[in-house]
Amino acid sequence: MSTKLMHTTSTAHAIELEDKFGAHNYHPIPVVLEKGQGVYLWDVEGKQYFDFLSGYSAVNQGHCHPAIVQAAVDQVQKLTLTSRAFHSNLLGEYEKYITNYFGYDKVLPMNTGVEAVETAIKLARKWGYEKKGVQENQARILVCQNNFHGRTTGVISFSSDPTAKNNFGPYIPGFEIIPYNDLPALEKALQDQNVVGFLFEPIQGEAGVIVPDEGYYKGIRILCSEYNVLMIADEIQTGLWRTGKALACDHEEVRPDVVILGKALSGGILPISAVLADDEIMLTIKPGEHGSTYGGNPLSCAVAIKALQVLREEEMGTNATVMGERFRKGIQNIHSPFIRTVRGKGLLNAIEIEHSDPEAAWHICLIMMEKGVLAKPTHNDKIRFAPPLVINAEQIDKAVNIISASLKQFETTYGKS
Ligand code: PLP
Repeated sequence: MSTKLMHTTSTAHAIELEDKFGAHNYHPIPVVLEKGQGVYLWDVEGKQYFDFLSGYSAVNQGHCHPAIVQAAVDQVQKLTLTSRAFHSNLLGEYEKYITNYFGYDKVLPMNTGVEAVETAIKLARKWGYEKKGVQENQARILVCQNNFHGRTTGVISFSSDPTAKNNFGPYIPGFEIIPYNDLPALEKALQDQNVVGFLFEPIQGEAGVIVPDEGYYKGIRILCSEYNVLMIADEIQTGLWRTGKALACDHEEVRPDVVILGKALSGGILPISAVLADDEIMLTIKPGEHGSTYGGNPLSCAVAIKALQVLREEEMGTNATVMGERFRKGIQNIHSPFIRTVRGKGLLNAIEIEHSDPEAAWHICLIMMEKGVLAKPTHNDKIRFAPPLVINAEQIDKAVNIISASLKQFETTYGKS
């Protein structure tokens, strides 16, 4: 056995290496993964798991989807990066494909989700000054309480989460936090003529899968149009059929002015993000005013086209709707005293844990891990369940049984309340 193999096959050793040589900016579930296929993951000991996180919805198409992998392999051997100093034969093709797919005039390609959020903020400000007529440096963007849009200094400036913010100041001005799912609060904030955009998550994923009331998206659309403010939907976690539709806003047949996509735009192969908007907004940004070395590279273009194609061709949205309902029903039927609420849309779901131990959700995730389901708590008492959209009924039922058995074991070990 080679030294390399010995070093990578021990769970404890892999965790120790990360702990010793990596920054401590994450607190992962103690499992060391080395292989993925569809809804399954395998650890370095060969144990198989259901993936109920999907890389925070980056792997909607399932791990290592063969068609996306093939597109990546083909392109990686041909041309991967040109930078935007030159044209490539795939950029225009991809731009045409994604703008037709979602019905917008233009796309601005980036890499990570937070970069696309930053791009949308810049676009809204530019549009505000050059089209709406806001005075220089006065533009304001409305955001929501408990938002999560990423972790750059710009984006944490309007976070309401102390963990994301504390000791990372000074913060960038020009944002106002308003309550989520509150149209009167939005209308009040819109009285300020300097507001150029309202940035929101159609479902707040990191906050614990907070689904707003029906009519919220329609209400936002009406108010943003009335006050000449851009409706900016961060669909990085909710988009790409995760909730059953191409975009979560499609549930109310609402068309945002600016759509932000990321995560599953690559099916988990590499970071690909995008901002979609019409000409009136997108063309306010001129050459040199924004960009990224890797944004829109040929490899990303080939991968993103295929990632979008398989979502539609394999009808993953319909599957997300049907399997999501089956999952929520299955969880409700457990009748566990520890489940305060089950909520979600499509395959973006969460349960809230009711227990006096603030670490209860973490302990439950560890038990689930032992039994073969991988998930992670968010905001202490919530557990998100977001498997790849290729999951089938039998797999959902097996996972629900594991979750049920884990809650029972938790009760035996940690007590009733
Ligand atoms: N916006 C939303 C709604 C997200 O869920 C995330 C990541 O979880 C981001 C933005 C940031 O994306 P990234 O981690 O790719 O920068």
